[in-house]
Amino acid sequence: MTALVQAALRVRRTARSAWGLAAACLLASFLLAGFFLPGSRPFGLGHLAWAAGWVVLFGHRARNAYQHGTDPRSTLELGVLLLVGVHALVQLGGGVGGDLYPLTYVAVALVASFATGRSGIGLVAFAVALGFAIAFLGEQITDPLRLGLTGLFIVCFGALSYVFTRAEIVRVRRKSKLELAAQKEKVRDDTRLFRLVAPSSDGVRDEDRLYQTSVQEVRQALYHALQLLHQTLDLHTCVLLMPTDEGEQLRITELVTKSEDVADGPFSLGAGAIGAAVRRKLTTNLHQIRPGYRGICYYRGPADIRSFIAVPVLERGHLRAVLCADRIADRAFSPQEEELLRSSTSHILRAFENERVFVQLERSKREQEILYRVSQALSTALTQDAVMEVGLSAATEIAPHDFAAITEYQPEGRRHIVRRAVGERALDFQGLRFRDNTSLTAMVVKNRHYLPYRGEFDSKQQVLFTKKAKLKGMESLLVLPLVVREEPIGTLVVAAKAPSAFVTSVRETLQALGNQLAVAMANARAVRQLEEMATTDGLTGCLNKRAFLDQLEQKLMAAQRFGRKLSVIVTDLDHFKAVNDTYGHAAGDRVLQELGRVLKRVKRETDLVARFGGEEFCVLCEETDARGARLLAERVREELETTELLTELGPLKVTASLGVATFPDHASTAADLFVQGDRALYEAKNRGRNQVCTV
Ligand code: GH3
Ligand code: MG
Ligand code: MG
Repeated sequence: MTALVQAALRVRRTARSAWGLAAACLLASFLLAGFFLPGSRPFGLGHLAWAAGWVVLFGHRARNAYQHGTDPRSTLELGVLLLVGVHALVQLGGGVGGDLYPLTYVAVALVASFATGRSGIGLVAFAVALGFAIAFLGEQITDPLRLGLTGLFIVCFGALSYVFTRAEIVRVRRKSKLELAAQKEKVRDDTRLFRLVAPSSDGVRDEDRLYQTSVQEVRQALYHALQLLHQTLDLHTCVLLMPTDEGEQLRITELVTKSEDVADGPFSLGAGAIGAAVRRKLTTNLHQIRPGYRGICYYRGPADIRSFIAVPVLERGHLRAVLCADRIADRAFSPQEEELLRSSTSHILRAFENERVFVQLERSKREQEILYRVSQALSTALTQDAVMEVGLSAATEIAPHDFAAITEYQPEGRRHIVRRAVGERALDFQGLRFRDNTSLTAMVVKNRHYLPYRGEFDSKQQVLFTKKAKLKGMESLLVLPLVVREEPIGTLVVAAKAPSAFVTSVRETLQALGNQLAVAMANARAVRQLEEMATTDGLTGCLNKRAFLDQLEQKLMAAQRFGRKLSVIVTDLDHFKAVNDTYGHAAGDRVLQELGRVLKRVKRETDLVARFGGEEFCVLCEETDARGARLLAERVREELETTELLTELGPLKVTASLGVATFPDHASTAADLFVQGDRALYEAKNRGRNQVCTV
């Protein structure tokens, strides 16, 4: 029934989405019938009705596309309609031989350049087919050469504009990608330059934004400082130069000048008057500079200045920048002015320092927020799956990666299991089990210390899980231990293709996450064990009576609703008291465990086995009538009969009697079903034991 409804809904959906195309094809069929050929019939009401239909349809579809954006289907519909409309016009103008025929080429070029992917190719194919069909059926042109040429032209126009548009799109995309990368690189450069904290990874968007604003702040502070100096000291140029990454050159970081002759740089570190200040780390103060002096590196040609001063900006003895000022007037920089410049270098250093602290604060605030959110989410996640889900998504927030996993360590078997893997080729690793080996994961568990040392990964040398299951293409890797009360319970793994993705600060945050995750995983495991303990029997691992009765109530209701049968098999060992008396209680317990095993082995996937207490067991068989249950009971009886247990007093064999009762044949309630099953069991005992009886 539901299948029928679903099929009907599907047909309705398809019809809804296909009516536009169907209507377009209907309009096209008029063209094929030669409806628009000038000679066939006079232009009249029929043509006007056709045109009105076309306008309404095209308008409706175009408005839809405008409002909701285009998808491949709407592009296809609009393209088909356009081609049909243009062909109608062309036919009015005389068909293939008429003046308007080139319009079809324009139309093909247009649809091919607007449609993307398969719809573009589909539309060109449609244009060719329509052109042929109209020429052949409508205008009855049979000359193969003419037909062929017409088709060839259409294909050429379509293909050319398709290729050109694609190439243009690719070019524009590549260009904007490059521009974006350059912009990002610039912020990174500046971040390094100002010694803010090194960005951790390529994909940290929030972090990028944070650095961007910080860089702007520093720049603004520098610019104001320089401008102030420029005005108060009547300078020609005031410039701050900073060493490049490699420390071999200087480049202009901020500049306020009246000159139009300032060079772009970078400049050699030791050259000219600035070189002297850099080398000696002392202020260089020059005046009465002769005209044509070339010792100021930031001017392209000979500088027209008379006084110059360079003040090194030192941070704990290290050169961070050089502040330079010059003026045209032949007025030496006085000791007061020199002092002013020197004090502004400490202002500059403070701007760096402030931003550095700000970035660190922002970062740790963000990390705290993430960790707080994680701890909230983890405290509500009760199952291990939920815990892992929360953990892995938090790891993504902390450190974007291309692969992540959580492994569990089972100390009993000294085994590791990849419980959850996400990202690249995750399915290759999900569920992977391996023994304690020399892999990074095993080492991390053993030493309870993260690996690899610098977070760098070499897949040729290092093994993450096993030699066979290789993690390829990753340059950065971190395997962090999950430890609870000094006991390792597994690892958290993150890997990224980018090099140096996991710097120290990220590693520390991930470890904080790992610690929370470990506790939550252990809690979830304990919850699971408690649940199992509450529903299973400790000796045999079968369900206990309470859990079984709960299940029976539910299954009975379902059986009632859907009119299905349901059977119970009640089992009791024969002369079990004697077994206990002869072989001892321990041997008796082993017999019970064996019976539990036999029942679980023989039952179907959906059946439930419970120990009802003592040596009574019960099997609940869903969708099973009395005959089926009897067969199952018989198999249990036979298996048990042939099973031999070795005890200290020699081999031991036991038998069981089984009673079968079925709903609704023998009882209509759960309680009654048991009464009936017990009666059948009693009957089996009475008839001599080691047999199956039905009510
Ligand atoms: P029958 O064929 O009539 O069932 O004879 P029986 O001796 O099996 O009689 P009954 O079913 O009344 O026996 C119950 C015995 O099962 C009593 C007790 O010694 C034994 N028993 C009950 N629970 C346990 C258990 O947890 N461990 C062991 N070893 N024996 C148990
Ligand atoms: Mg009994
Ligand atoms: Mg018994």
